[in-house]
Amino acid sequence: MLATENTRILVDAGLSMRELGKRLAAIGESLERVDAILITHEHSDHVCGLAVLARNRNVRAAIWMTRLAAPAIDWGEKPPPRLEAFQAGASFQIGDIEVQSFGIPHDAVDPVGFAFEAQGVRIGIATDLGYIPESIKYHLRRADLLLLESNHDLDMLKVGPYPWSVKQRVMSRVGHLSNMMMSEYLARDLDCATSRVILGHLSEQNNHPEIVRMIAAEALERRGCAAALTIAGQHRPSEVFQY
Ligand SMILES: [Zn+2]
Ligand SMILES: [Zn+2]
Repeated sequence: MLATENTRILVDAGLSMRELGKRLAAIGESLERVDAILITHEHSDHVCGLAVLARNRNVRAAIWMTRLAAPAIDWGEKPPPRLEAFQAGASFQIGDIEVQSFGIPHDAVDPVGFAFEAQGVRIGIATDLGYIPESIKYHLRRADLLLLESNHDLDMLKVGPYPWSVKQRVMSRVGHLSNMMMSEYLARDLDCATSRVILGHLSEQNNHPEIVRMIAAEALERRGCAAALTIAGQHRPSEVFQY
């Protein structure tokens, strides 16, 4: 979730409505106050609470997702009343937050990442991507805060429990970002204006937060950037960052 004094945006709804409500309450927020829910793609770990949220009468948030991805959601009886469909790559304004969407390489219908800007603060979000093409590097530049995927450790994935077909999918150009690719990006491309990097979407089977932290810290040192690091977990909300 990201917010100014006037506008609250939730990115993805991969938890049940109940769990989302609990986690928002823990930071003094609520689902009722959210203005917009932006969806990156239709995989269940990003939308499993969405259809219920969309139907709930106390939730007034508009749901923003790409024109192609919206039909891929199982909305139940009827499509949501407040759906704002956009074209991947489009930019739009929600309250006082400027939103830029950009396509990402991932095996979903029409997956996107987002860059947000408000009051001179910029936030970049790119998770669920097989690699980082130049176009995405461009959108992540000048971000004060960056949320980037660091999904798996290649060696752990290779010897891990997934069937080979799934391993291949995860490793592919439309799969998930490895620790190695994350660290390459940090070491070569990170904008040193970025003051915080949050690494997320870690695989529970094929990665470990301490490995991610070590690799990322080493990459930041190579880059000569002093960005603070946060490793996000699935089971607890991260702290609140204020700018
Ligand atoms: Zn996905
Ligand atoms: Zn995902």
